[in-house]
Amino acid sequence: MTAAAARPGRSEDAPPDGAALPVAGPAATRRAALRLIRRDGRAFALMLALNALAAGAGLAGPWLLGRIVDTVRAGGGVRTVDRLTLVILACGLAQLLLARYARYVGHRFGERTVARVREQYVDRALALPAAVVERAGTGDLTARGTSDVTSVARTLRDAVPEVCVAAAQALFLLGAVVVLDPLLGLCGLGVLSGVFVVRWYLRRAHGAYLAEGAATSALAELLAATAAGARTVEALGLQERRTAAGEEAVERCRRTRTRTLFLRSVLLPAVDVAYVFPVAGVLLAGGALHGRGGISLGVVIAAALYLRQLSDPLATVLFWAEQLQSSGAAFARVEGLGQAPRAPRTVPAPLLPRPSPEASPAPATPVDDRIDVTGVHYAYGDGGRSPAAHRDVLHGVDLSVRPGERLALVGPSGAGKSTLGRLLAGVDAPHRGSVTVGRVPIAALDPAVLRRQVVLVTQEHHVFLGTLRDNLQIAAPEAKDAALYAALAAVGADWAAELPAGLDTELGAGGHRPDGSQSQQLALARVVLADPHTVILDEATALLDPRTARHTERALAAVLKGRTVIAIAHRLHTAHDADRVAVMEEGRLTELGTHDELVAARGAYAALWHSWHSQGPS
Ligand code: ATP
Repeated sequence: MTAAAARPGRSEDAPPDGAALPVAGPAATRRAALRLIRRDGRAFALMLALNALAAGAGLAGPWLLGRIVDTVRAGGGVRTVDRLTLVILACGLAQLLLARYARYVGHRFGERTVARVREQYVDRALALPAAVVERAGTGDLTARGTSDVTSVARTLRDAVPEVCVAAAQALFLLGAVVVLDPLLGLCGLGVLSGVFVVRWYLRRAHGAYLAEGAATSALAELLAATAAGARTVEALGLQERRTAAGEEAVERCRRTRTRTLFLRSVLLPAVDVAYVFPVAGVLLAGGALHGRGGISLGVVIAAALYLRQLSDPLATVLFWAEQLQSSGAAFARVEGLGQAPRAPRTVPAPLLPRPSPEASPAPATPVDDRIDVTGVHYAYGDGGRSPAAHRDVLHGVDLSVRPGERLALVGPSGAGKSTLGRLLAGVDAPHRGSVTVGRVPIAALDPAVLRRQVVLVTQEHHVFLGTLRDNLQIAAPEAKDAALYAALAAVGADWAAELPAGLDTELGAGGHRPDGSQSQQLALARVVLADPHTVILDEATALLDPRTARHTERALAAVLKGRTVIAIAHRLHTAHDADRVAVMEEGRLTELGTHDELVAARGAYAALWHSWHSQGPS
């Protein structure tokens, strides 16, 4: 993967509106489609073979009908006609059965392939760095995972088998006319005039459908953001502005859809005309040839019937060409996710910070619990790895956290405390410098290993749909019930014992809905289960009311016992109680020492402490 391809929105053919997530180029899309076919190559080959046989059987009807006409004109007997009719029926039946079986094989192939596309999409979406998802917005990601994947699924399930049947029939029918009489075959090839219109269409359709998909994503993103922030919109009186933005997005959608509609409105009638001319040509040329005794009437009839039959498969191909185009664009968007940067621990080696030549090579697993931050620079953007277009928010931060110490990180808003917290927790990797635990880059650790090293606790305590057990085992998949109950008890979650189905109680919509404090206890119980040596607290109790905060802080104290704690401190009494205080200002670490040392130094921390004290600690 090249750096350009890895950069969101900068792939070979980025959509017109520059959507943040990449879109795979035509070559990459083709390669991905071929890979999918190859993974189920046998089924695909069987489907093609069955289709060819079905199309071959379908040729018998018109040819035998021509033979019947010639037999009757030559004064042949009724028995011959009966025999030929029976053969026509048998061939029709064989075609029906073979085509049905081909479709069955094709649909099964489609279903299996769709499942692979979906699984791959989920894997890739989960591997996206948080920074990329934040920048791209969930609307685009959701649109790709729903409408785009559905469009690809419909193509794989329905279009691929149908198009294979139809393409085989069309090829065999045209071939049969050429074999019957090359001159009539030439007339039949007139049907290919439709190809020019189709080419005109295809050249424009890919871009038009990509634009349509991007406009739909943008609309979904805007609606989702407006719905999620409805209260803010109301509070700040932003209704008119949001409505105007919504109308603009709808208008963009309308324009892109009108464009694709126009393309279809040229394609479909032109193709209809292309069917009729060759049949007329065969009848005229065939009539003239027959008049001169060049060919039999049966041959003319058979050729005309073949060409007449051609309209069905061609109509099918064209019907699905439309779907193939739109799903081709959808597949490019789905595949584009594979070109997005991946979460730091899965980042390919070249994207991880390069060790300096004199440094000893990093060990495979952490050798101790020491955390070192060395010359760290970080910029928000594509996971912080491509700083060119983005401003650094951390500028060469150095810090060593000793095992077992309590370190408070303080500083004004926007100083970079949370950003450093994310890097310390391995959520993201710096674009320069390193953040290591036991000399291993934290962000490169496998999730299962990372969980046992460092865990970040924020004020967002998500409860996943599923049972209480599912919610806890996220942190320790192997943990037994006794361990789960012990973790709940450690954080004071007495309510869990009263749940109707215990650990099997469903949480979330339709089940038990934990309140804020219960959700927080669940998050802390997960920390107990993960059992990391270091916990990073970022505003973990900031949004709770004082009663709940006190309750949670008691639980927190139990969780933090015996661990290294890095607390992003908003209340300075946390800093006062810490072993050391690190002060951050404008992305730099400006002071480091104990509370008393820093107060005595009369620097930035002393100023913060005095101003916090004079306002009365809250
Ligand atoms: P606070 O105390 O207000 O949480 P902080 O010290 O934790 O502030 P950060 O949240 O780390 O500071 O922010 C540091 C800088 O990075 C700020 O300029 C902020 O605007 C910027 N920033 C933070 N998050 C993002 C993001 N997701 N995308 C882009 N910039 C961001």
